[in-house]
Amino acid sequence: MGYYRYDVLCEIRERGLEQPIGFDGHSSRSINEMMAKITKLRENEIYKHTHCHPDCIKRGCGKLCVMDGLHKFSCVHCLMEISGEKEKAMNALNLPTVCPETPVDGSAFCDIHCKALCEKGFEILGLRDFLLHCGANPSNYTKDDRKKVRARTIELSLLIGENVKTPSAIANYTSRNLIDKVTRKDPSAFDRAEEIPEEMTCTKDLGNAQQLRGHSRGILAMIEGGGIIRSWCHIYRSESLSQAALFVIAFFLMKFRELQESQWASQKFYLSYDNMCQLANMKIWRSPLPLTDKEGSRLNILSNMWTQNITKIIDVLHINNHKRESCKTLYNPDLMKNEFEDGNSMVCEATFSWLGKYKKIINSLPKTRFEFLLHRLIIHRNQYTEYCYRVTTVKIVYWK
Ligand SMILES: [Zn+2]
Ligand SMILES: [Zn+2]
Ligand SMILES: [Zn+2]
Repeated sequence: MGYYRYDVLCEIRERGLEQPIGFDGHSSRSINEMMAKITKLRENEIYKHTHCHPDCIKRGCGKLCVMDGLHKFSCVHCLMEISGEKEKAMNALNLPTVCPETPVDGSAFCDIHCKALCEKGFEILGLRDFLLHCGANPSNYTKDDRKKVRARTIELSLLIGENVKTPSAIANYTSRNLIDKVTRKDPSAFDRAEEIPEEMTCTKDLGNAQQLRGHSRGILAMIEGGGIIRSWCHIYRSESLSQAALFVIAFFLMKFRELQESQWASQKFYLSYDNMCQLANMKIWRSPLPLTDKEGSRLNILSNMWTQNITKIIDVLHINNHKRESCKTLYNPDLMKNEFEDGNSMVCEATFSWLGKYKKIINSLPKTRFEFLLHRLIIHRNQYTEYCYRVTTVKIVYWK
């Protein structure tokens, strides 16, 4: 607890926040609430990078954005599903229908859903008991068992009805607003634009582990060529293209906010992703993005950012896995060589080999602490990266 207390206080100081009313800095309850608040703030911003170094720029700082999934991290979540109309809509978009909240100790469900189920007279809430109730075998949990459990949770979710405010797993990608807009305009926006014949697809292993509890599938991170981590979000079920697309849009909207509006139209970025060919093949990019904000049409300039502002590449290592010739030309990492000879599209691999070391600690934490600890690690890492550039006597070996 001492660690969280100290770092929560650091965060309050760094943000220049007043100590919020009710925050005593001692009880785990008030610290937990503060960590949840910080996460809400964090979801709407990108990590700051104030002390840049010429060597950092050389590697692609600010311009080369590398996105990759780190599947080692997984956060336990409630087994409840979103149901009814919402579920249909989410399924159609290939977006996760899970409740991301932390289950109550020993239970299959989070606090909100335990209460909602109890109110409806359903009281088998213990994890093992619930799995048995669904006809699954907790000692030898299979994919079929998982299906049975899902079918039962969907029934239960219909039982509790849509009045219970289910926390949404997509809240961490971007505002619900944006998704609503995207889908209202074109319900098939997240479909593939062209079917690629099976033998022609450049596949990526997005696996699916069978675990008793619900687990997130990892995190998706955006790291700039210089090594600064700028943003991350959870991924649920699988590293689906819909989730990646939303993360990209949300990230670049925040990135543009760092710039003068007059620079928006002409600003060029490189985006590297190992599954770029599939991502770029989504319908959502074929027409302008439905972006508007409170002030009206200001964001309109950015609705063509995918074609106008972003050069798409696949990193040096992964390009070899892409069998199609078109991938090698369209998304060739050499496209950035003119501007960044030392552009580092492998920056995620190096960063993840460091971050992965915290896997055991982070994965054992409930959602609030998982998110807060990861957030603080990233802040410390970014400060260390800046320090390494500044102090040339410290060899920067880990991102070679
Ligand atoms: Zn930099
Ligand atoms: Zn829940
Ligand atoms: Zn490909």
